[in-house]
Amino acid sequence: MDLNEVIYLIEIDSKWIEDQLRILKNFTDEGPGITRITYTKPWLKAHEYIKKLMIEEELEVKVDGVGNIIGSFKPKGKLSKRVSTGSHIDSVRNGGNYDGIVGVLSAIEIIRVIKRLKIEIDKQIDVIVFAAEEGERFNIGCLGSKAITGKLTEEQLNSIRDREGKTLLQAIQECGFSGKIDECRIAKGYYNNFIELHIEQGPILESKGKDIGVVTGISAPSRIKVTFKGMAGHSGTVPMDHRRDALIPLAETILEVRRIIEPVKDLAVGTVGFIQVKPNVATIIPEEATAIIEFRSLNKEVKDQLIETILTRIGEISTKNKVDYDAKVIVDEKPVYIPTYIIELIEKVANNLGYKTLRIPSGASHDAAHMMEICDVGMIFIPCKGGYSHMPKEETSIENIVKGVKTLVHTILSI
Ligand SMILES: [Zn+2]
Repeated sequence: MDLNEVIYLIEIDSKWIEDQLRILKNFTDEGPGITRITYTKPWLKAHEYIKKLMIEEELEVKVDGVGNIIGSFKPKGKLSKRVSTGSHIDSVRNGGNYDGIVGVLSAIEIIRVIKRLKIEIDKQIDVIVFAAEEGERFNIGCLGSKAITGKLTEEQLNSIRDREGKTLLQAIQECGFSGKIDECRIAKGYYNNFIELHIEQGPILESKGKDIGVVTGISAPSRIKVTFKGMAGHSGTVPMDHRRDALIPLAETILEVRRIIEPVKDLAVGTVGFIQVKPNVATIIPEEATAIIEFRSLNKEVKDQLIETILTRIGEISTKNKVDYDAKVIVDEKPVYIPTYIIELIEKVANNLGYKTLRIPSGASHDAAHMMEICDVGMIFIPCKGGYSHMPKEETSIENIVKGVKTLVHTILSI
């Protein structure tokens, strides 16, 4: 059938999506919620399962050196374009069942729609399931898309370790992947587009009564790791004036992050979500205290300024507290802007389907941000209940999902 004839007849197989969501819920470590961390057993089971779904849909399936799955739908005849879509199946610890999964299932559903309706298309559609989108285990997010776009180095594979001391490369190879990053690379221009459907992970769409969020840009994180080094001692015998307690400057730094964010809080966010104290014993004065400070913004200048300010303040705080310190920027990603033609296309498609849209920036990072290095990217958000995400009560309705999938299908077919 001709695309123009069928485009508004497309029905989404909501039962299939619901069934898959139910099945995927089982691939988890102990609850509450979903714990499907990349390169662990539950993730590997989900990985196998999704691969099987793709093979059932007769996609040409390839798994690369870090465990990204790429399933290609290649119609016969001359191809005008290559487009890609997808998301991730890994989760944070005690996360939800929708983050990432919705984008993966919707990508497979596109292929099912094309086959069901025998739609004639002249573009290759690749379904991509990225490995390790969440930075949970190795403190590095979007690993799969970084490998695809050439931003992951061999040095990182060998040096980044989880809390048990296992390297990234070991974890990858234990799952049966080669760990060869060269074979993950996809050349710039190979795809014309990458479009990702994702839950919003925030409360805006729901509170404004909108169906579809048309993402305008993806804000990027920067992270600074700071370690203060003082002197340990007996908590009962060392007088207060003699102490070089490493935790005090760390506490001041955390409050300082909050203070410097205040004047720019409409443009950026700042968080200290990780701290570590050594020896972490109630009766010993802390000798070493480490934190990871994170800033996110869609505005690179604002973010750069925040990094500079906090680094200066860390120096001053350490001098004041008579401790040594080491601070370095461990992550510094660039925010990306979605091309106008993609924003307008998604908006038009969704409006034609009768959905209420809202242009919205993404505060969270996504694989789409990295795919921007090799092709033009778009992102579609659907509302999630109460804005909850990365927690067991993360939820979105099948009605929301269907609206998102319809918008995605139409966007992919028309782009
Ligand atoms: Zn996600």
